[in-house]
Amino acid sequence: MNAGDVAAWIRRAAELVAADADRLTRLDAAIGDGDHGLNMDRGFRAATESLPGDAPPGTVLAAAGRAIVSKTGGASGPLYGTALRRAGKALGDAADVDAAALGDALQAALEGVQELGKAAEGDKTMIDALAPAVAAYAAALADGSDLPGCARAAAGAADEGAEATVPMQARKGRASYLGARSTGHMDPGASSTALILRALSDVVSGEG
Ligand code: ADP
Ligand code: MG
Repeated sequence: MNAGDVAAWIRRAAELVAADADRLTRLDAAIGDGDHGLNMDRGFRAATESLPGDAPPGTVLAAAGRAIVSKTGGASGPLYGTALRRAGKALGDAADVDAAALGDALQAALEGVQELGKAAEGDKTMIDALAPAVAAYAAALADGSDLPGCARAAAGAADEGAEATVPMQARKGRASYLGARSTGHMDPGASSTALILRALSDVVSGEG
């Protein structure tokens, strides 16, 4: 991936988020405060407007992350902003990102979200989509998959991870205030994380 591909990822993520904003908001209305679609749409729209023209991939991701932090309300803004900034930092100044480097960047994003949000797998948060996605990416890489193959594996695992949040009881974030009543609904942040990984897979597979 070069800087143009990374910018295309952010634009594709913004498209998928905009298309699904109402669904994300309905998910958040069920177990939160009904603003997740709006937050994500605002944040990723700002990210697409922040994309630097002539900069390496890591700088593109970091700029998107800063835009998301500054424009997104709610818990998700700082969490997604941190994810993108950490991923960008992991890529450094390299002009090209290979499959291994992208895997390291996704791992750094996961660690950043966990440090900030202190959620573990099973707490019914975006971690339940991101952690299995990062693991599936690494497993595909170890099996010799190319970057599109790794990204497809990550996107599939994120979808499954988001689906698996339905029966979970939330232990972090606003949904945790509902206690047992948070079960039976998909976590909105896990669902939006699955969209962002789908966007990556689309772009590197030439389907964006
Ligand atoms: P808010 O909850 O402040 O209204 P959003 O609705 O935009 O913010 O985002 C809610 C999502 O944020 C949740 O569905 C969950 O996935 C994620 N989230 C909340 N708290 C945490 C946390 N501590 N760690 C990881 N993700 C979290
Ligand atoms: Mg909310």
